[in-house]
Amino acid sequence: MLGVLKDDGYRVTAPRRALLRALAETTEPLSVQELHAQVNPDYKPGDEESEEEINLVTVYRFANLLVEMGLVRRVEFGQGYYRYEREESQTGPHHHHIVCRQCNRVEDFHGCDLQGLTERLEGDTGFRIERHQLELYGVCPQCLENPAPDTRRTSGGRTVAVE
Ligand SMILES: [Zn+2]
Ligand SMILES: [Zn+2]
Repeated sequence: MLGVLKDDGYRVTAPRRALLRALAETTEPLSVQELHAQVNPDYKPGDEESEEEINLVTVYRFANLLVEMGLVRRVEFGQGYYRYEREESQTGPHHHHIVCRQCNRVEDFHGCDLQGLTERLEGDTGFRIERHQLELYGVCPQCLENPAPDTRRTSGGRTVAVE
């Protein structure tokens, strides 16, 4: 990722380098807050002694620049904010995510098996389909065993699950 940025004439400052490293090494997509925390490990909001290498807005802008350049992709797990991870070629091996709606744990899966669907849709619509996004939601094995108390509420003596 570093090489592409340099070739495009972007200045790669130390904080930007740290962001690229965080995105290259992460096994889970990271939110802007998480990226910010990784690049500013010693920063405590409100503490004047601690230094902020790069602020949230700059992290956000840089992450979106990487998305525009096709180096990083944005995913959204129905939590109201984006997460970022390295882009991969969809013609080769690539992964998608399965998300636990209870504890927000994210797991990768490979083999999305969409070729039949893609071909049928291309035939039906005349589109040439180039890429896809696929996130699956459910409840992970741990949460199935230990349902969180705050996701259930009793109403009239019955227990009902609350989304
Ligand atoms: Zn879970
Ligand atoms: Zn896929």
